[in-house]
Amino acid sequence: MVVERIAVIGTGYVGLVSGTTFAELGHSVICADLDEAKIAMLQRAEIPIYEPGLQELVTSNVQKNRLAFTSDIGEAIRSSDILLIAVGTPTLESGDVDMKYVHHVIATIVSHTTSAKVIVIKSTVPVGTGRRVEQELRTALPHIQIDVVSNPEFLREGSAIHDTFHPDRIVIGAEQAEAGKRIAALQSALPGELLLTDRESAELIKYASNAFLAAKISFINEMAHVCEKVGADVGLVAKGMGLDKRIGPHFLNAGIGYGGSCFPKDTRAQLKIAQNVDYDFKILSAVIEVNQLQRERFVDKIKDTLGGKLHGKRIAVLGLAFKPNTDDLRDAPALDVIHALQSLGAEIHAYDPAALHHASKLLRDVQMYDDLYDAAYDADAIVIATEWETIRQMNAERIRSLMRYPVIIDGRNMFRPDEMSRLGFTYVSVGRAAAI
Ligand code: NAD
Repeated sequence: MVVERIAVIGTGYVGLVSGTTFAELGHSVICADLDEAKIAMLQRAEIPIYEPGLQELVTSNVQKNRLAFTSDIGEAIRSSDILLIAVGTPTLESGDVDMKYVHHVIATIVSHTTSAKVIVIKSTVPVGTGRRVEQELRTALPHIQIDVVSNPEFLREGSAIHDTFHPDRIVIGAEQAEAGKRIAALQSALPGELLLTDRESAELIKYASNAFLAAKISFINEMAHVCEKVGADVGLVAKGMGLDKRIGPHFLNAGIGYGGSCFPKDTRAQLKIAQNVDYDFKILSAVIEVNQLQRERFVDKIKDTLGGKLHGKRIAVLGLAFKPNTDDLRDAPALDVIHALQSLGAEIHAYDPAALHHASKLLRDVQMYDDLYDAAYDADAIVIATEWETIRQMNAERIRSLMRYPVIIDGRNMFRPDEMSRLGFTYVSVGRAAAI
C-alpha cells in the first residue's frame, strides 16, 4: 500500500471522521482547522463532538503517529500531497450555498502550495464547483500540477464510524483518471461499490441522494395524515411498503420530519441548483414544504391533546438533538417545536442525554435535565422529539407516577399505542389512532 500524506482542511464532523479513518487505514494525516480552541482540545485528545467510537480511534492513531492536529493551515498544506476539503457549506437566505469557507480554503491553498497536489472536495458543494476550483488553482499556480477530485461524503452523524468503514458506495468524480484512481486507492481497503464518475455527476449524486431520502420522509409523513383520517396505522403501511425490495424499509418512519445539518440545507440547495438552470423541481419544493408543515402540525396536535390551551402548562420535551446518538442541534425539529410551545405560553422542561451543552446556548427559559425522570416531574404532558434509546428504555410506570397528568405526545412513534394505553397513558403519536 502507498502511504499518502493527507491534510484535512476543516476538522468538523466530516473532517475529523474522514481524517481519522484515513489514519486508521495507514495514511499519514494532519487535520487542520481555523478554530484554535477545537484544535487545542484535539491536541489534548479531547473530542469536540459526540460521536460513538471516535475517541478510541483518534487516541490510537495519534499514539501511532499517524494522526495530528494543527491550526497552522499553511503548514498542513505544505507538508501534504493530498488536500481534503471538509469545511462547512451552509445555505444563504437566498437558498444558494454559502461558499465562503471553501473560497477561503482555496485562497490559502494558493498562498502555500509549492508542489503538486490532489485536492479532494468532501464538502457538499454545488455542481460545477470542482471544475471551477481546478481552473482557479491552475490559473493561480500555472507551473504546479493540480487536480481536483470530488469525493462526496455519505456518513450519518451518530453512526459515522460504522458508516465510514462500511460504506454502501464510494463515489469519486474526476476528470483525470490518475487522480481519481489515486483517491480510490486511499480507500481500497474499504468495502462498498466504487463508482468512478465525472465530477459533475459525483457532485449531484450527493444532493440527489439526500433529496431522495428527504422525499421518502415527507412522503410517509403525508401518508401519516391520510392514515389518521381513514383509521389506518402508518407503521403497518410503512412496513408493508418497505417489504417491497424496490422500495426498501429505510426512511419510512413517520414523525415530526427531518432536521440536522444536511437534509434541510441540501434540499434547499438542490432546489436552488435547479432554479439556477431554469428548472422548477416541483417534487422537491413539496418535500421541503411538507417537512416544515409537519412541525407545525405536531404543535397543533400537542395543543389539541391538551384541550386547546397551553398557557401555564408544563411540558417535558424528551430529546433535543435532531436525531439520536449525536449532540447536533442544527435545524433540530425540537427547537422549532419548543419555540412554538413557548409562544403559546407553555413552560418547557427539556431532557437530552448529549445536546444540553449546545441547547443552553440556543434556548431561553427552558429548564434542562440530563435525567428524563427529573424532566418529567410534575409535567402536564411529555413530548417526544428525538428517539433516544434512553427514552425507549424508560420505566413508563415510574414516569407516570411522576407526572401531573399521564399524557404523551410522541413525535417519533417510539411506543405501541395499546401498550401505552394499558400502562395508563393518553398516548398520541403520528399516523396512528390515539390511545386514551
Ligand atoms: P462542521 O461545521 O462540523 O465543520 C466544518 C469545520 O471547518 C469547522 O470546524 C470550521 O472551523 C472549519 N473551517 C471553516 N473554514 C475553514 C478554513 N478556511 N480553514 C480551515 N478550517 C475551516 O461541518 P461538517 O458537518 O463536518 O460538514 C462539512 C461538509 O460536509 C459540509 O459541506 C456538509 O454538508 C458535508 N457533510 C456533512 C455531513 C454530516 O453529517 N455532518 C455528512 C455528509 C456531508
